[in-house]
Amino acid sequence: MLRAPTAQDWTPRHGFMFAVGLVFLLVLFAASVIAASFSMPTETAVTVELLPPQDGNIAATLLPTGEGVLHPGGDATVRVRMHFVLPPRTDADLRWAVVFGRDLFDEIHVASGQWQSETRSFFQPDSDEEGAIPSFFVFTLPAQMSGPVQLDVVARSSTPGVLRPFVMPENIVRKMEQRAIALTMAVYAGLFMLALVMLALFYAAHDRAFLSYFGFSISALLMLAALNGHLYLLPGFSLLGSWREQGVSALAMLFSAAALHILLRYSDAATASPRLNKAANIFCGFLLLLSAMALMDVPLLRGTVRAASLAGWLGASIGCIVISTDAGRRAVPMAWPIMFLCTLNFVAAVGAEMLSRGVVPDVWWIRRGYQATLLVTAALLAVGLASRIGTYRVQRDRARLAREDSELRVTRQSARLSLSEGLQAQLKDLPAGDVEWTAYRRVIEHLHPMLQLDSIAITVHGEATQDLLLVEPADRTEHFARAIAQRQGMLKGLVRTRAPLQISLHEARAEAHPQSAVVPLPIRSPGWGVIILERAQGDGFTNDELTIVAEFGRLATQAVEEASAAMRLRRSAELDALTGTFNRRSLDQWLTRCFGDAHRASKDLSVLFVDLDHFKQVNDTHGHAAGDHCLRRTSAALREMIGAGDLLGRYGGEEFIVLLPGATSDSARQLGERIRLAVESQHIEWNGTSLPITVSVGVATRSALEQTPTATIERADKALYAAKRSGRNRVCVAPAEFV
Ligand code: GH3
Ligand code: MG
Ligand code: MG
Repeated sequence: MLRAPTAQDWTPRHGFMFAVGLVFLLVLFAASVIAASFSMPTETAVTVELLPPQDGNIAATLLPTGEGVLHPGGDATVRVRMHFVLPPRTDADLRWAVVFGRDLFDEIHVASGQWQSETRSFFQPDSDEEGAIPSFFVFTLPAQMSGPVQLDVVARSSTPGVLRPFVMPENIVRKMEQRAIALTMAVYAGLFMLALVMLALFYAAHDRAFLSYFGFSISALLMLAALNGHLYLLPGFSLLGSWREQGVSALAMLFSAAALHILLRYSDAATASPRLNKAANIFCGFLLLLSAMALMDVPLLRGTVRAASLAGWLGASIGCIVISTDAGRRAVPMAWPIMFLCTLNFVAAVGAEMLSRGVVPDVWWIRRGYQATLLVTAALLAVGLASRIGTYRVQRDRARLAREDSELRVTRQSARLSLSEGLQAQLKDLPAGDVEWTAYRRVIEHLHPMLQLDSIAITVHGEATQDLLLVEPADRTEHFARAIAQRQGMLKGLVRTRAPLQISLHEARAEAHPQSAVVPLPIRSPGWGVIILERAQGDGFTNDELTIVAEFGRLATQAVEEASAAMRLRRSAELDALTGTFNRRSLDQWLTRCFGDAHRASKDLSVLFVDLDHFKQVNDTHGHAAGDHCLRRTSAALREMIGAGDLLGRYGGEEFIVLLPGATSDSARQLGERIRLAVESQHIEWNGTSLPITVSVGVATRSALEQTPTATIERADKALYAAKRSGRNRVCVAPAEFV
């Protein structure tokens, strides 16, 4: 359900169109007033005289002006004697007629002496005699009638009403009829058109307010047609005539309820003024109940229903004024003009009611004013309702934007999720050197399509790690490398501010230079890094986009940090704290793994057992700290000597093992010799004293049958023992089998 248009939706353009529409309607209204109010025709002065009631009927009363009588209603038949003088005939064609306003008389005719007119009935009009849209009761007098005339009017009616005869030439009566028909048709056609337009709008916009309006204008049309006595001429509706005034009351109640309902919808009272809405809806229910009661036509209840209908109608009119006033206070568009017209309508209806009671003279604008004001009100309401179409557009646009926005959000959210999940899964098992590269590569893979970038670069300058430059597409690498090199100072400055920035990394001469933005990465100083985005077209980058880039960057940087922290942790569990070489546990694992591999591939594998000579003495003489120092220096010397694929571990206190995959016994021995020499020749000092450290080395090579390290290590150990025995500071090679 749509809300009613509010003052915000009411643009100056709407206001202008509204003003034009209103002026147009007022001009139309004024024109019809002027057209219909041309001075009324020559009429002959008539005096009336009441004839005594017959058959116990209630007596009629003479109007104070003496121009007519008030019919008491109640199905009484009233007789009135008219006196008037017809001028002598000059024109052979001129006929005179007696005319009455078309009120709710059940039967009316005139008679003079032998002559009697046809009987007219409000509820059973005769279209042959009266035309399709009868406006008056017209009785054409016999041609020969002239001079002083005495004419009796006989009228039966169930509702009170005024019998006020006019005598005038027939051709003038026809002109009056034409004007009345024109005005009535304009009103009918207007209401009908509005009903159709609103029905079409309902199908287009599915707003129930349009349907309510359709009900309102159709019920107004029916009520006016019933009040004018035109409804009973339509095939199918003639049956309604049998309900007589009860039918008219029922339609009036129905219309009143519809009017209240459309005003409630128009002003969106249901949400804005719930109490008023509730009260008005209850009242609508009461009106519908009255309408049903009127149609049931219980003779006993007629009086009550008639009084209640009048009260219901009065209440509804005041209700309409109250609702539109409330809407006006809430600045609902056009509420005040509608309120004004509701009031005018009310006044016009009171005038018509007074006319039917003979209180005011029978002038056309009192007789027809109600219809005209009703049409103008309906038109104004229709203009107001149609302005909702503008509101739909605004709302549809808003809804579309919201949908797009949420779709974008969902895409970004899922990209963010996929990035962080991918980072967690992938970085875990990567070798240290690949972590950074992979993480930032993922960022590029996500951002490049999502933000429709033309190119993107990520550069990271680490403290310890190598500098990194990732570019997509790759052919822009050189361009970015140059730009970054030229503007490194500026970029570093930007990183310190930690805020993304839209800048141009291009020389000013470039005509259509792309939009670019730099987003810093939260890398721990003194390392630094940025993401650089470029887009050839468009209005640059939105804050939203830069925020998401910054967030993706943060995710990657965090993942890299976490991965390297995890790696450090893993390493520290594998390494010996004092020397930084593999500890015994990981050394054993490596030994097992390498022996398995070598056996499967039938590859050579040698082991060096390295033990410091007379190390106990060092500890005893210079202290444990000096011993530790020696261990560190020696392990460093060993590390320097071994190759990239070789492994060094601390096997025990001052014993190291060097694992040499692919090494033959001979090359192992040579390495052992180099190690021995290197240790011997290094200069270790402790508190100013030089500590001569030497090592003995046992060499063993895996024999074809050895799948596990145990036997080989044992042989190496034995070779070491042999080296010790033969004087230390030497290399001994274990034979394939010790005896
Ligand atoms: P050899 O030449 O026969 O190997 O004589 P050695 O004194 O080196 O051999 P021994 O096994 O008798 O002594 C090893 C000594 O190494 C005993 C211990 O005090 C010392 N040691 C073992 N682990 C550490 C250590 O982590 N730090 C220090 N400072 N000394 C250690
Ligand atoms: Mg030892
Ligand atoms: Mg030793």
